[in-house]
Amino acid sequence: MHILITGGAGFIGSHLVDLHLACGDQVHVVDDLSTGVRANLAAHEDDPSFRFDQADVLTWDRLERVVGWADRIYHLAAVVGVYRVIAEPTKVLATNIAGCERLLRAANAGGWKPQVVLASSSEVYGHNDEDILREDQDLVVSTKAGTRWGYSVSKIADEALGLSFAQRFGIPAVIARFFNTIGPRQVGRYGMVVPRFVAQAVRDEPITVFGGGAQTRSFCDVRDTVVALDALATHAGRDTVTANVGNDREISIAELAQLVIERAGSRSQLKHVPLREAYGEDFEDIRRRRPSLDRLRQMTGFNHCYTLEQTIDDLVATE
Ligand code: NAD
Repeated sequence: MHILITGGAGFIGSHLVDLHLACGDQVHVVDDLSTGVRANLAAHEDDPSFRFDQADVLTWDRLERVVGWADRIYHLAAVVGVYRVIAEPTKVLATNIAGCERLLRAANAGGWKPQVVLASSSEVYGHNDEDILREDQDLVVSTKAGTRWGYSVSKIADEALGLSFAQRFGIPAVIARFFNTIGPRQVGRYGMVVPRFVAQAVRDEPITVFGGGAQTRSFCDVRDTVVALDALATHAGRDTVTANVGNDREISIAELAQLVIERAGSRSQLKHVPLREAYGEDFEDIRRRRPSLDRLRQMTGFNHCYTLEQTIDDLVATE
């Protein structure tokens, strides 16, 4: 297959590159390297099946041509990370929404309509306190989220754009709602919790728990995420589908901190930091976030290969 990956030098994107090149596909990456790094793709620099363009999806002049070549497009390019979302809310909206629209228009411009896989997020569920989040629930954006609402809005808009291009023009759209994804190549500087905890534990520094620590999340290893994503897109074929992609094991942030300490054999202690101090503004953190994986499993038969403990061990070993 011919695969275009926008944001392919980033955390999730670079693992997708690994997966598709290992399957014998041709892979073209476009990335502006705003948060991604070329080093994530170092293993493939001399591979004739791999091409890289450093460019912004909003202005890249070869977008239409490469979209016309592709059988499947993963659109991952986006402004991500809580710190950046709070610091640059308008940029988040502009990049994430306009980038998605430009890509969908390009996919509709040629005779052949490629499959478009859009990276959505569990953030579209907003402040939803359900035990388990299902794809058919209403999407609610709340001002309780502070400036972070911009990211949720941008992902909801991307989903709406994907669905409307699917209905109006027959572009097969796979909308993947990623829940918290962790693993090798994730960097902590934009507010991601697991790389921060691992770095602190390995150095025996205080583990900074933002907020109370009772909030729960479900973490999926990126190597599982990309296998699930490929399976979802393959099974969807020319159909349009929205599905959660993640892991349904739930853990509180305080328990996660203890687990990281234990796996790293660290002497670190927990240090609670108010959200205002951590992010520069107050907001109400989302209390729980656990995906229903019924749809993903029914469609693909997907099973996870990595436990949370294994992922943490791998991160500790390479920190
Ligand atoms: P990332 O920052 O590592 O990847 C995003 C990539 O997009 C980066 O390489 C960045 O340089 C690139 N990029 C940003 N703006 C661009 C532009 N205008 N043109 C070209 N490239 C651009 O983040 P990630 O965690 O790999 O996220 C990938 C996608 O998955 C994003 O759309 C994100 O919103 C979504 N997502 C991730 C998670 C998670 O837990 N990691 C959860 C939910 C959703």
